[in-house]
Amino acid sequence: MINAGLIAPCGMDCGICMAYLREKNKCPGCHGSDENKSPSCVRCRIKNCANLRKKRTRFCFDCDRFPCDRLKHLDKRYRTKYAMSMIENLEDIRSLGIRQFVRNEKIRWACSECGGIICVHRWCCYKCGKKRE
Ligand SMILES: [Zn+2]
Repeated sequence: MINAGLIAPCGMDCGICMAYLREKNKCPGCHGSDENKSPSCVRCRIKNCANLRKKRTRFCFDCDRFPCDRLKHLDKRYRTKYAMSMIENLEDIRSLGIRQFVRNEKIRWACSECGGIICVHRWCCYKCGKKRE
């Protein structure tokens, strides 16, 4: 279930991630404990960003370096590989607010066949396998 607690500082919606959607060793998302996280997410330079911590901000758009090279790099990778933009997400959160963003995400990634969640990494519904449109 997508909720505000699953939205990472970079704008990633952990609720549509393969690691969150899987049954075994489910990742709790960026804000959760490190136990079942992939090493790359534990080491993530955005999540661990000193500037983010220092400023006590929840999202990267509040940073004076926004969008920094790290974020731009991540964003480009996701736009290219998964047709999803973290920076676009952040701009939506900034203009719409987190609650409306989450509402939109639930609709955006809902499977039209079974109501499950479309996994951004697998390009299909995690429940029934229906392809992402
Ligand atoms: Zn489905």
